[in-house]
Amino acid sequence: MHRSVADRDLPSLARRVRELMAANERLQGELAQLGTSKQAWECERALLMALINQVPDYLFVKDRDGRYLIANTAVSVDLGHSDPDDLIGKSDFDLHSFDVANHFWTDDKQVMSSGQPKLDIEEFMVEPSGVKKFLSTSKVPLRTASNEITGVIGVARDVTQRRLAEEKVRFLAFHDMLTGLPNRALFEDRLDHALAGVRRGNSRVALLYLDLDRFKHVNDTLGHPAGDELIRQVAGRLAALTRETDTVARLGGDEFGVIQDGVSTGRDTERLGERILEEISRPFDLFGDPACVGASIGIAIAWGKAAANSEIVRKADIALYQAKSRGRGRYHVFTDDVTEALLNGRSDLASSIRVLNS
Ligand code: GH3
Ligand code: MG
Repeated sequence: MHRSVADRDLPSLARRVRELMAANERLQGELAQLGTSKQAWECERALLMALINQVPDYLFVKDRDGRYLIANTAVSVDLGHSDPDDLIGKSDFDLHSFDVANHFWTDDKQVMSSGQPKLDIEEFMVEPSGVKKFLSTSKVPLRTASNEITGVIGVARDVTQRRLAEEKVRFLAFHDMLTGLPNRALFEDRLDHALAGVRRGNSRVALLYLDLDRFKHVNDTLGHPAGDELIRQVAGRLAALTRETDTVARLGGDEFGVIQDGVSTGRDTERLGERILEEISRPFDLFGDPACVGASIGIAIAWGKAAANSEIVRKADIALYQAKSRGRGRYHVFTDDVTEALLNGRSDLASSIRVLNS
């Protein structure tokens, strides 16, 4: 009997079918395995994201172009996005002002080009609400298994509270807590600076020492808080009367100091003394209670090559004592013959480099 081609090929066809079935089985197995690994991968990623989203610090990974591959919730929430996935694919230029983004990007580029980490960099960002946040950031290069750098991994910690506390400590070291004015330490530093300018030949510097008259009476009659309020208001009036280049300081108790820089004649300082007395003698409103005080002022002026801090301070102090003992509510200018000449416009004597502390 004649066998058809199909009959002849039956065994090989059957073999082929068996092969295909085996291959199919293998594929099914591999697919099942892949499914399990995909599930496992998804599970691992979910775990990883849960972990990094629990971290209160900023954690992020960016690609070579600075685009976010991963960002945790801390980053996204502070940038006004509830879902960290909203940041994926975006760069800092999409999320921050140009200056802030450019600062971040400069560091990113350095890390990627050098291959070196940058640790504890001081940075800041501004939240959408306008709040400035100080960050301590560390960045390391993101590398493939073959060591190729493909981006940046970073962690940033919010150090705003620490930074503000440090700024406050620095401020309080040189300022008076009650008025916010420079304290004696800063006053002396500014005076040193001004007198150094005088010694280099920059015009003159005047020092005004002011002490309120019978201030204790305010404390005794209206109470200490009212006395504090009076001191605050005196500070405000003094600051309003002086130029930006002058220094007004609270030296302690009811005593204030003014450094008047760039004085051309003693009359400038006398005029300032008069205006201060006028301002301080205006009534104060202390939590609804009116109060009147006066002030006494001692003035000393320094010029010439040997102008020294201790000397001008001593002379202003003596002048203040004179103002008090002559009845208060007045200024007194410390005079020796050269100061006298300066006040009288005798430039021949004033320019003769005889100095106050001669
Ligand atoms: P005088 O006319 O001689 O200057 O007398 P005075 O009453 O103004 O008293 P004096 O300048 O000798 O002393 C200042 C007083 O200021 C001493 C103290 O009771 C009070 N005082 C010092 N520091 C503070 C403060 O921070 N707050 C308040 N409320 N009072 C202060
Ligand atoms: Mg006083």
